[in-house]
Amino acid sequence: MLPQRNAGHSEVSSPGAAPSPAVLTDFDDTAAVQNVAEMLLERFGDPSWKQVRQRFRAGEVTLKEYQEIAFRQIQADRAAMQAFVQENASLRPHFGALWDYCQIQGVPLAVVSQGLDFYIKALLDKEGFPKVPVYSVNTRFTRRGITYLYRHAHPGQKHLGNSKGLVVDQYRQQGHYVIYIGDGRSDFEAAERADLVFAHKVLAEECRRKQIPFQPFQDFGSVLAALRKFRSNVENTAPATGSQIRRGRPRETREFGSMHEEGSR
Ligand SMILES: [Mg+2]
Repeated sequence: MLPQRNAGHSEVSSPGAAPSPAVLTDFDDTAAVQNVAEMLLERFGDPSWKQVRQRFRAGEVTLKEYQEIAFRQIQADRAAMQAFVQENASLRPHFGALWDYCQIQGVPLAVVSQGLDFYIKALLDKEGFPKVPVYSVNTRFTRRGITYLYRHAHPGQKHLGNSKGLVVDQYRQQGHYVIYIGDGRSDFEAAERADLVFAHKVLAEECRRKQIPFQPFQDFGSVLAALRKFRSNVENTAPATGSQIRRGRPRETREFGSMHEEGSR
């Protein structure tokens, strides 16, 4: 049986402590304007990658399998792919303003992705944010091709790949109020666990369907505004009632792993 989540702020924070926010954002199609993984596959992949994606969307292979199969067929080296990303991809507007604010205010901000570290790093470096923490699939380029390391998988569940929900849980267990931003099926699990969700595309549809409150996401300007508002609310609220800021949705225990049967990242 998979572990059950049971950590909420009220259980882990010291009594009366104001919740401290943390911002976790998906990468492809969210922090990045583009789906960088698909850009790379389009440019360097074997044409069969779209068939693998179709099998993934049909539930025949997991996201982990899809990604490993599709990228294994690439002949280009790491440097060539990173150069391509740096020439052709971009971060969504106001990411830098949000990062600067978080740095000054001591608010953790991290990228949480089911994608691959080397292309995420390439874009963050190019845009001047080499210090942004990244929870992603770690890769090693060897003579035999790419090998994949899953450091953020549920114990005993490495075959399912990394879990964004696990990362959200870790921040919540540290007492953080988690603001999560995403767009795709791999974000469903994280959105269910976060305290405040910014969603677009498939994730927004899913939030509507499951009645998970969310704010529409276009760029990081609205996230920054929400974060400022949250912090000023905390400052203006007596510590003992700081938890009123949390949204009212009941926190449920859910099983892990549902995202691995889903469609696009
Ligand atoms: Mg995405």
